[in-house]
Amino acid sequence: MNYMFLLLVTFKIIKKKLTKIQEAMGLQTSHTASKQKVQPILKSMEEASDHKANPSSYESWMVRHPSALRHFDRLMKGATGKRIVVFLDYDGTLSPIVNNPDRAFMSDEMRAVVCEVAKCFPTAIISGRSRDKVKAFVKLSNVYYAGSHGMDIMAPAKPVVTSSNGKHDNTALNTTDDGVPFQPAKKFLPAIREILTVLETKIRDIQGARVEDNGFSISVHFRQVQEENYGILEEMVKSVLENFPDFCLNEGKKVLEIRPSIKWNKGHALEYFLDTLGLSSSSNILPVYIGDDRTDEDAFKVIHSRGQGYPIIVSSTPRDTQALYSLRDPSEVLIFLSRLAKWRKISCSSRSLNFG
Ligand SMILES: [Mg+2]
Repeated sequence: MNYMFLLLVTFKIIKKKLTKIQEAMGLQTSHTASKQKVQPILKSMEEASDHKANPSSYESWMVRHPSALRHFDRLMKGATGKRIVVFLDYDGTLSPIVNNPDRAFMSDEMRAVVCEVAKCFPTAIISGRSRDKVKAFVKLSNVYYAGSHGMDIMAPAKPVVTSSNGKHDNTALNTTDDGVPFQPAKKFLPAIREILTVLETKIRDIQGARVEDNGFSISVHFRQVQEENYGILEEMVKSVLENFPDFCLNEGKKVLEIRPSIKWNKGHALEYFLDTLGLSSSSNILPVYIGDDRTDEDAFKVIHSRGQGYPIIVSSTPRDTQALYSLRDPSEVLIFLSRLAKWRKISCSSRSLNFG
């Protein structure tokens, strides 16, 4: 009996010691230890992903796509003696992304800055919205407008005249009564009207979904749709398009974009503007394109292939992009544009001082 008792005690002691050794090696935790220790470890991992991992990946992304603000002086050094032409996307670039796309207003401050920029450089706004809608948001008569991802352009009626001091002639920039429309997808208009009618009926029951008529393209917004209905909505849109093989479907920021399958995008619109401005063959032009959409990548590619200009993406998260530079959000776009207008004024006044 005594022998059995001694054996049991020895076994318990050995088991206790083994457990302690395993705990020390991190191989096993007691229930009380798990409650006290495991929870803080998980919490610290969450904190790391929220506050450390994302910023560091953004910082490393910015090494490849540096801030256009931080490198402003370097950019302007490269622009000296060149004719800058400014291209701007609208949503997410000049205005914040909002739940209701009809309320994506730009601030008065942004409007004033874009107006100042347009006084200094030919400026065009290329948006996915209808041209009339983006014009109603921007409310400026000294900029050019292209809607439907560049498929609806109001181009200058005559090339921009650039004076000897590098300043462009503003008289060519009154777009209210001076412009020539260019609409390469015009023949698709009857089909677009038909798709709109079918879509509006089909998605009526999906709460929060809304269809926007952009003239030459259609947007189906799902920012206010419940996440579990995203797939159903996408299938509905795809089923409508089965009867319209000449159209394609792309996804933007919480929006499905339906557009004619023609070889025309924001990049073509950029080239078209340069042509009609009389600047496309100029070896010393410098297009600056600022945008946040996937569709803006087409314009970034064009700037790349021309080997002249600054493609700038607006993004607060790391993204695959052809852009060389970045700005975090519309508030940084505002500062950049403001500095650009000031830079032009200073460089013009110092030039006139030098020439007396
Ligand atoms: Mg955008």
